[in-house]
Amino acid sequence: MGKVVYVDLDECTGCGTCEELCPEVFKVDEETEKAVVIKPEGADCVEESIDTCPDEAISWQEE
Ligand code: SF4
Repeated sequence: MGKVVYVDLDECTGCGTCEELCPEVFKVDEETEKAVVIKPEGADCVEESIDTCPDEAISWQEE
């Protein structure tokens, strides 16, 4: 059991900050305009994205 990166799509406004800070893990979907997690196991830059997301949409979830 590990932790995976989770984006709450009800909260995400697609601002793109997470993708800018951490493109390895996040990508904003052009159609839905919501962030998609492309690397669920995360990377060092995830913490900064969690702290910076204006909608507090990013968190770690237990698998
Ligand atoms: S920083 Fe937050 S609100 Fe902005 S795209 Fe990423 S998850 Fe969505």
